[in-house]
Amino acid sequence: MMNTRLARPSRIVDINRIPELDYIRETGDTIAIGALARHAAVKSSPLIAAHLPVMVAAYEWVAHAAIRNRGTLCGNLCHADPASEMPAVTQVLGAEMVLNRASGTRRVPATDFFTGMYEVAAAPEEMLTELRIPKPLSGTGWGFEEASMRKGDFAWVTVVAMLRLADGHIAAPAVAATGLGERSVRLEVVERALDGAVPDAVRVEALAREVASTLDPPSSPSVDPQYRRDLFATLLPRVIAAAVRRAR
Ligand SMILES: Cc1cc2nc3c(=O)[nH]c(=O)nc-3n(C[C@H](O)[C@H](O)[C@H](O)COP(=O)(O)OP(=O)(O)OC[C@H]3O[C@@H](n4cnc5c(N)ncnc54)[C@H](O)[C@@H]3O)c2cc1C
Repeated sequence: MMNTRLARPSRIVDINRIPELDYIRETGDTIAIGALARHAAVKSSPLIAAHLPVMVAAYEWVAHAAIRNRGTLCGNLCHADPASEMPAVTQVLGAEMVLNRASGTRRVPATDFFTGMYEVAAAPEEMLTELRIPKPLSGTGWGFEEASMRKGDFAWVTVVAMLRLADGHIAAPAVAATGLGERSVRLEVVERALDGAVPDAVRVEALAREVASTLDPPSSPSVDPQYRRDLFATLLPRVIAAAVRRAR
């Protein structure tokens, strides 16, 4: 943002010298990621690979090695680029943001954290010190798909899903997407339609087309709204099929 002169801050707080914030650890049923954990550390963490493989898969699409070596997951979330992958991933994972200010701490669910384009629910005097992610239950399947101009570029459309199967029926589906508006969103209309349903590829394709027709995605020089709708209608069935396969 500073490079493009979109931001011209008069003061910069450098958190690089607070090593206590550089961690990825297991705390009971939760994975905690500190503010200074770099993308590269999260991507290569055995703990993340064991419990949050969807995050590792998503990281294949986030920027390039040089950026991932320097940028942090928490910084990425606070930046809240509307085409960023990790907001959608944290939303399906049911993550919470731990926000600290001098007078105390509060937690904000990822579903409430992203309030608009480059806007989050953190006050100017608050810092995101930790991301807390509940470990998914065993048997949870996931899917992640993205379309962008080149791998490593910001996404045109990203769709991510997690679900379980109970007696052959879809249970607790969580679906989120980026590229459809000013921020990542959970797609409750899709989740409601899937919840309790028997996995059926034809039905999911019809649902994807129906939901796509109601979307009003933004236009940009490289991708028009109709193409984003078409991408969503293509990627959603792939993501659900992958999640069902992994849940079996
Ligand atoms: C060439 C390039 C390609 C990229 N491609 C992608 C991509 O494909 N996908 C993607 O998701 N991202 C992409 N990014 C973004 C990148 O992944 C970083 O996440 C992003 O630049 C944030 O980096 P940072 O951690 O250094 O945060 P900074 O740049 O230092 O901060 C970003 C913003 O968040 C605030 N902030 C940072 N940390 C905190 C905190 N702990 N608490 C409160 N506020 C905080 C800062 O004040 C600032 O407003 C790309 C970046 C570049 C330069």
